[in-house]
Amino acid sequence: MGKIIITLDGFSSCGKSTLARQLANELNYVFIDSGAMYRAITLYFLRHRIDWNHQVEVLNALKNITLDFQYNAETGKSDMYLNHEDVEVLIREMPVSDNVSAVSTVKEVREFAVAQQQLMGNKKGIVMDGRDIGTTVFPHAELKIFVVADPAIRVERRYKEMFEKNPVITIEEVKNNLESRDYIDSHREVSPLRKAEDAIELDNSNLTREEQLEIVLKWANEKINISR
Ligand code: C5P
Repeated sequence: MGKIIITLDGFSSCGKSTLARQLANELNYVFIDSGAMYRAITLYFLRHRIDWNHQVEVLNALKNITLDFQYNAETGKSDMYLNHEDVEVLIREMPVSDNVSAVSTVKEVREFAVAQQQLMGNKKGIVMDGRDIGTTVFPHAELKIFVVADPAIRVERRYKEMFEKNPVITIEEVKNNLESRDYIDSHREVSPLRKAEDAIELDNSNLTREEQLEIVLKWANEKINISR
């Protein structure tokens, strides 16, 4: 059966990664969380005090960065590795979340990440979520989904997720972080977040995980059948 490329883009905390992971499981496809790659680069920049507004510094730093995903049998998910270190937990913490969108505006950072993402899609059979996957990384993807959700619901979902790991976090902190990332992501010069013209919009504000999976699986199977 022909394999396709599926892209899921949208604002932060719309549930893209959860949906992309479920979809990949159902189809036996590879799931790639492109945001984790930008987060790992940000962690490296913070640790090594790289000034991301300085082009030469950025280019030199990128030469020392190796990114890869490795399956974690305990969680059943793939963890992000930065230079062979499992950084899955660290990249979800506030210092990275507060800086990742600024780092992601840097042209050289995007070129570095996009080149690796495109290689991962060489054999198709991939579900990738992010901000520019349907527009820049895989503009010819067979199925492009643009996920949207009510902002209040997004804050609530993100707060619940963050609270489990960090009980001192406040709703305000989460809300400010989401708003600021959304603004930077949609206003940056290189590959801003926008819906690809041929993307299908999915509003999951009032859908359960099962319901949204059922909808996108139907879309995916239609495309897979055409591409046989
Ligand atoms: O998906 P997640 O929220 O983990 O992504 C973290 C950040 O990485 C986003 O807020 C965005 O700034 C950046 N990003 C990006 N392009 C992507 C994926 C993520 O700029 N394809």
